[in-house]
Amino acid sequence: MNPKIYLSSPHMGGTEQNFVNDAFDTNWIAPLGPNVNGFESDLENYLKEDVHVATLSSGTAAIHLALIMLGVTRGDEVICQSMTFSASANPIVYQGATPIFIDSEVDTWNMCPIHLEEAIKDRISKGKKPKAIIPVHLYGMPYKVDEINAVAQKYGIPIVEDSAEALGSTYKGQKCGTFGDISILSFNGNKIITTSSGGALVTKDVSLKNKAMFLATQARDEALHYQHSQIGYNYRLSNVCAGIGRGQMEVLDKHIGLRREMNVFYKDIFKTMEGVTVFTEPSESIFSNHWLSSITIDTTKTKLSAEKIRISLDKDNIESRPLWKPMHLQPVFKDAPYYGAKTAQTLFENGLCLPSGSNLGEKEKQRIRAVLENIN
Ligand SMILES: *Cc1c(COP(=O)(O)O)cnc(C)c1O
Repeated sequence: MNPKIYLSSPHMGGTEQNFVNDAFDTNWIAPLGPNVNGFESDLENYLKEDVHVATLSSGTAAIHLALIMLGVTRGDEVICQSMTFSASANPIVYQGATPIFIDSEVDTWNMCPIHLEEAIKDRISKGKKPKAIIPVHLYGMPYKVDEINAVAQKYGIPIVEDSAEALGSTYKGQKCGTFGDISILSFNGNKIITTSSGGALVTKDVSLKNKAMFLATQARDEALHYQHSQIGYNYRLSNVCAGIGRGQMEVLDKHIGLRREMNVFYKDIFKTMEGVTVFTEPSESIFSNHWLSSITIDTTKTKLSAEKIRISLDKDNIESRPLWKPMHLQPVFKDAPYYGAKTAQTLFENGLCLPSGSNLGEKEKQRIRAVLENIN
């Protein structure tokens, strides 16, 4: 059996261990220390726009704290992109609030601004104005930032920008992760850079960063003894893990280049295959890190199907995966309101994510190409 080729696996640049060793040498084996501070300032310099970054234990924790700071509480409603990973929506439920799911538009596969406005109007007419909007840059493809912002501003609803998959992507030249009232990043093992597990909350408002750090360290009041006036969380990033992140920042742009090459690689393979489309930027103003490259299959034009391609790859121990199943189709969210048509569902039924790692070499590419060019 050939060795397994993964959808997206960690890719170390080489200097990560030096930062981890520093943590050991100085005994900063804690969820604070020089690597945490260094990683936060590396991210601030990378994202620009004068943002402040609080690194946390996960992207999910960052979304949770964002919702808490925006005052989301029991009985509230929060709007969320349906086509996403469950971590975008779960923190809404942690707060006892209800997710309101929105369909995708076809250009970026992300939140449709028209259905977003339809939903806001309808929820307001039913007596509840949504407390926040969570749009997602799925697979690294930026959502329609101007259109979504315009709707959010019109109704005065804050945006929690889920940029977990889009570090390094840009919209009109500005980095994803800087568009929300609060934005979040993830450094989970499968993301474009990893700290093993980790995430970050990004904001232009330094008081929100400070509040996030306070909540993430058990909400300790200023006192010599342990004193608490509100409920806190244990959500800070380990200084050991932050060391991995500092090393990863040195190779981030290189890895984005390699992921984008994977997208070109698939475009080349499928260029002569009728009915198979490689997902790519719909306009010049959008630059994707192509965290995952994916395809959609038009079954009226080819005998191929996403499942047939997936099985063929699997036979050679190559991982691929259907597009993320929309949240409004998930058993756990079956009672949540949904606004839209069948765009996300159709993508889910006809799409496939392909191996996209920056660490795939010529040998792996040859294996992938051999399978894909010989399916019929
Ligand atoms: C990975 C991911 C998250 C959550 O990040 P974790 O660090 O794994 O908690 C949130 N949203 C999206 C879209 C993701 O892909």
